[in-house]
Amino acid sequence: MTAKPWLTQYPPEIPHTLTYEAIPVQEYLTRAYQNYPEKVAIHFLGKDVTYQELYESSLKFANYLRAIGIEKGDRVAIMLPNCPQNVIGYYGILYAGAIVVQTNPLYTEREIAYQMKDSGAKAILSLDILFPRISKVIKETNLENIIITGIKDYLPFPKNLVYPFIQKKQYGFSVKVEHRGMNHLFPEVMKVGKAEKIEVPFDFEEDIAILQYTGGTTGFPKGVMLTHKNLISNATMCDAWLYRSEKGKGTILGILPFFHVYGMTTVLILSVMLGNRMVLLPKFDVESALKTIHKQKPTLFPGAPTIYIGLLNHPDIGKYDLSSIEACLSGSAPLPVEIQDKFEKVTGGKLVEGYGLTESSPVTHANFVWDNERIKGSVGVPWPDTDAGIFQMDSTEPMPPGQIGEICVRGPQIMKGYWNRPEETEHTMRDGWLLTGDLGYMDEKGFFYIVDRKKDMIIAGGFNVYPREIEEVLYEHPAIQECVAAGVPDPYRGETVKAFIVLKENQHVSEEELNAFCREHLAAFKVPRIYEFRKELPKTAVGKILRRTLVEEEKEKIINA
Ligand code: AMP
Repeated sequence: MTAKPWLTQYPPEIPHTLTYEAIPVQEYLTRAYQNYPEKVAIHFLGKDVTYQELYESSLKFANYLRAIGIEKGDRVAIMLPNCPQNVIGYYGILYAGAIVVQTNPLYTEREIAYQMKDSGAKAILSLDILFPRISKVIKETNLENIIITGIKDYLPFPKNLVYPFIQKKQYGFSVKVEHRGMNHLFPEVMKVGKAEKIEVPFDFEEDIAILQYTGGTTGFPKGVMLTHKNLISNATMCDAWLYRSEKGKGTILGILPFFHVYGMTTVLILSVMLGNRMVLLPKFDVESALKTIHKQKPTLFPGAPTIYIGLLNHPDIGKYDLSSIEACLSGSAPLPVEIQDKFEKVTGGKLVEGYGLTESSPVTHANFVWDNERIKGSVGVPWPDTDAGIFQMDSTEPMPPGQIGEICVRGPQIMKGYWNRPEETEHTMRDGWLLTGDLGYMDEKGFFYIVDRKKDMIIAGGFNVYPREIEEVLYEHPAIQECVAAGVPDPYRGETVKAFIVLKENQHVSEEELNAFCREHLAAFKVPRIYEFRKELPKTAVGKILRRTLVEEEKEKIINA
């Protein structure tokens, strides 16, 4: 057997090794503008933005950023749902030579403050309805400028006129944007900026394009430094993998949020690289996703299992025409085989499972999309130029096929390291290999399988949740003596968050009270759905709480039910 048995499985259309152009990511937009200025780059709630408009708006935004003092290497955050301003902001920040910090719009004040402080972001582009949350934490951060936009800024007439009323009904308040002086309104910004390219010195290998926050294998979210080389490599691999997708022709459905690495690479970058049209949905709801597919006819649809499961379970799915879908790449969590079968039957397209992580930009493995063999239940084979191995725990000692160990990967898409955390970087990277924290095995043909996760991260409905963040909040509650947050199996969300609580003597607190307490400090997707009060928690001899034992107990309960 060769050292890379998967290479013998590759179809002739996919080269084992690719050429990566040493260009900055934003150059894809320059080229799309040059090749297809009139073509629609973004479709959003009935409004079209052409490549010319996207290119010019991004340059205007870049010039504005420079005018307010943003320089090469400065961090600029985007805290927006998927909408045209997110795309303009992203490419604008890159044209300015700065680094994008994508931030989840669901974050609470505490979470925003943490990410802004950690990244040292000097400016943030966000939504009018989020302004009150951001303005409360400005003093704790390095933020010097807040740029505010509204969904209505990119809605067609008359939706733009009606939107403020819908917003008031939805949120119970009209948005008041205060603190003038440090905040700027996006439409005004666009009037001020010039659509001129800025000359910025560029280093393909070293320059960071984004800081993408993730918990990694342990602890609190940290910024993954992804360079232009990392992102260009992964997008080029993705293009090679989908070799049938024609440039300038397809439509990519942008449901995956851009604040997650997966949506960023497979929609925000890939769509522009291919000169495709991206159809954006500001949030995932099953009904509007089905309607959008029916009307906008996307050809590519990257997603996570919960998204495909949600669509398939809609009672009226039969009413919608989903036949435009040619290929879907599912990642983030295991894809149940029956979902894959059902989805392919309903759409007539391909749904294949892939694998990756923030630290690898993200994709490292996938099943073949078109005619070649694909194995259901497997995450596929490593992508071109990507080495993968199963190593004995915490070493780089390879294991033979069929044996379970830690999945390790090496390739041009692997991160530069964690932002300001050299020790954590050292802990995760060994001899050029990224230790993924995922456990799995490889079969004789070179197909990989994930069996478990060594790291503590919980993936609930496609969102990453880090137990320590939840525990830190719970420990602030005066009645709590000890607690553990863990991911327990959930039929819809894949995993859901459960908190195991030991109360201090003579203290009482209800589940509802704890829930309200967590909601105050954590984004809704992180708030535990289940609480269990115990007298004590299982511990090691040195007193470390055995989170895994609790998870195993939960799994056993399900098996025995
Ligand atoms: P993130 O850094 O948010 O992209 O999360 C990466 C993690 O998601 C990986 O380390 C895995 O634990 C998990 N993951 C990604 N793809 C899959 C998959 N196909 N099956 C199971 N787990 C996956």
